[in-house]
Amino acid sequence: VALCEAEAAPPARSGPGVVEPRFNWKLFWQFLRPHLLVLGAAIVLALGAALVNVQIPLLLGQLVEIVAKYTRDHVGSFLTESRNLSTHLLILYGLQGLLTFGYLALLSRIGEHMAADMRRALFSNLLRQDIAFFDAKKTGQLVSRLTTDVQEFKSSFKLAISQGLRSCTQVAGCLVSLSMLSTRLTLLLMVATPALMGAGTLMGSALRKLSRQCQEQVARATGVADEALGNVRTVRAFAMEQREEERYAAELGGSRCKAEELGRGIALFQGLSSIAFNCMVLGTLFIGGSLVAGQQLTGGDLMSFLVASQTVQRSMANLSVLFGQVVRGLSAGTRVFEYMTLSPCIPLSGGHCIPKEHLRGAITFHNVSFSYPCRPGLQVLRDFTLTLPPGKIVALVGQSGGGKTTVASLLERFYDPTAGMVTLDGQDLRALDPSWLRGQVIGFISQEPVLFGTTVMENIRFGKPGASDEEVYAAAREANAHEFITSFPEGYNTVVGERGATLSGGQKQRLALARALIKQPSVLILDEATSALDSESERLVQEALDRASAGRTVLVIAHRLSTVRGAHQIVVMAHGRVCEVSWGPGSRSGGWHGFGHGHRGTGGSAEPCEGL
Ligand code: ADP
Ligand code: MG
Repeated sequence: VALCEAEAAPPARSGPGVVEPRFNWKLFWQFLRPHLLVLGAAIVLALGAALVNVQIPLLLGQLVEIVAKYTRDHVGSFLTESRNLSTHLLILYGLQGLLTFGYLALLSRIGEHMAADMRRALFSNLLRQDIAFFDAKKTGQLVSRLTTDVQEFKSSFKLAISQGLRSCTQVAGCLVSLSMLSTRLTLLLMVATPALMGAGTLMGSALRKLSRQCQEQVARATGVADEALGNVRTVRAFAMEQREEERYAAELGGSRCKAEELGRGIALFQGLSSIAFNCMVLGTLFIGGSLVAGQQLTGGDLMSFLVASQTVQRSMANLSVLFGQVVRGLSAGTRVFEYMTLSPCIPLSGGHCIPKEHLRGAITFHNVSFSYPCRPGLQVLRDFTLTLPPGKIVALVGQSGGGKTTVASLLERFYDPTAGMVTLDGQDLRALDPSWLRGQVIGFISQEPVLFGTTVMENIRFGKPGASDEEVYAAAREANAHEFITSFPEGYNTVVGERGATLSGGQKQRLALARALIKQPSVLILDEATSALDSESERLVQEALDRASAGRTVLVIAHRLSTVRGAHQIVVMAHGRVCEVSWGPGSRSGGWHGFGHGHRGTGGSAEPCEGL
């Protein structure tokens, strides 16, 4: 529970007092374990490649020695003397290429497998989170954890193994051969290299900071474009194209400036480091040359030394770049694993089900109080008590923002009440299986139904995955949708567009109704299902709703009287409580008393029902 509460708080920003989540090594190990064998093979190949790389400078030195001897003495055949060495070198080059191919291919296999596993695990855990979790998070953020963060983690993992292993081995191996070639030169190198590396690292961290700022600025520009393109109808309707263009251009200009600055920084870094490297070569040649002149070193050894020291320097430069990449990868990995271990307060399944033949569909809210987890200061429901008798239609009316949708959400168990309880046939909802409750007992039609971007057929079948085509047609007929669907040239195979954008409001609503009816729910919740419709679509939807309501426990949420004319009971809510109950015209047990003359509700508050 503590976990859930921590998560429900407004999105935590890194700052003083906030505990940064740590990288979850245990979870990482679980993803890595299936690939240990392949990883072992990759490591062996990478080590092999590095060792071959250490050999190469030594052989090159020997070759130079032969060249020098030949230029000096002009005796013997250069070709015969160098042939062995050259063949040896060629074999080593070939071997190195082969080993490099091998370990890179293996690593990329491991990386891709792990990335796919991680994405699957993260997606499945995200889908399981409480609705309260999604209230507090932006979809874009969640999606970027699935894509960018996993990608970043994967590439730094691959790089850490390939480059890291290789560079470390090469540094160690080359240092050994360097000190065997000349201790004095090695000592000099050991003084100069760390100083240069230190300067390089300082510059590098400044560049990394700049690069982060640059990325943030690019993200801001992308955000502007995303919002404008995603809401193009609103932009068009307000003739705001010009202003959006300017907004985008401003952000783009900022990101261009930053990127240019970064480019200049990188250019300066490259320029300075090329001077530094060249000076190192010159210094080694100069000092080494004086050693050669003093007969303390052969020319070939000097050549070997030069190549090996270049290898050391290149490897160390790689390691410093790698360090930054690994830091970034670890923080990406932390973000990925963070949501993988989060467990929801309301599980998706578990608990018991009421057998179909015993299910009556009586629902009671017992003194329910509720505030949304992301807005704990606002109490939406206070001591709310309401009974939905089985097979009857109850209309719930009240001001906008009064908490009607919240009542429906509690019934769907999107949230649990802060106090009190909701029961189905006398059993606490918390003891029942949520997926059975949502999947088979309750049909929910919201004010703005959302369809998926597939065919009409698939959208209706979403309510009951195994349904036959006949069941789909029957549900569509019941929802008054069959006629308009068959009037489309493609019929049930019509693709409805993103979120159902190619359908009218009334058509969408009727498809949503068919989708809910196909599961033959015992309880139907209609949340202002017709309030956004014109009168003709409202009539069609209302007709279908009336038909669908027969024999079911129905909660009709409305702010219009026309919607509630068939109700057995009309409940008025205000200030989070039931403040009035009247018997509606649909009721056989009592006459129509109209608003303001009914019985006092069980919630029995003294507050007047205003604003209706
Ligand atoms: P109604 O359906 O009667 O118009 P709602 O139940 O949607 O009212 O909202 C009741 C109150 O709860 C409003 O003040 C609203 O701002 C708030 N609210 C609704 N949904 C959420 C949510 N997901 N998170 C936080 N507050 C919410
Ligand atoms: Mg509402």
